[in-house]
Amino acid sequence: MERTVICPGSFDPVTYGHIDIITRASKLFDKVIVGVFINVDKKPVFSFEERVSFLERTVGDLPNVTIVGFDGLLAECAKKYGASAAVRGLRAVSDFEYEFQMALTNKKLNEELDTVFLASDARYTYLSSSIVKNVATLGGDISNFVPASIHDEIFNRLNKTKKGESVK
Ligand code: ADP
Repeated sequence: MERTVICPGSFDPVTYGHIDIITRASKLFDKVIVGVFINVDKKPVFSFEERVSFLERTVGDLPNVTIVGFDGLLAECAKKYGASAAVRGLRAVSDFEYEFQMALTNKKLNEELDTVFLASDARYTYLSSSIVKNVATLGGDISNFVPASIHDEIFNRLNKTKKGESVK
């Protein structure tokens, strides 16, 4: 039986942490659907099209990975694509409570949907999309957070410091 899983997220923007989880999921399972939330709770900084484009340029070449947008319930989206599990990354104990609650909720809504947690790579446990946005806005170096293929677009969009002016 072919095993399909879904990696859901806002990816605002995608980071090395997300890329690591998606890449590892692609080795563990036959098919990986990357589900990009179209309407994120908090207003995203990057549009849906930009978030998808960043994913296409970073994980789009993995042969068994498909990027899709979704609105509404993860439980329904998983059904639509035949995914038997949601794959989520766990960074720290602080992620656990929310993730556990979501996993149980999704199971209630879709009995066929399990949640698989992958431990964050030790190199990326501190990393989140918010960190990327905060650091870039202040003109800091984000080259350890996002790949070169999308770095300049993200940095130039967010950097609020003037060129050549030091951050005070
Ligand atoms: P959400 O808005 O659902 O939290 P995110 O885009 O922030 O979506 O994250 C999507 C998934 O990627 C989540 O499972 C999250 O735990 C995981 N993730 C984010 N950053 C990292 C990281 N640095 N290491 C491992 N997993 C991560």
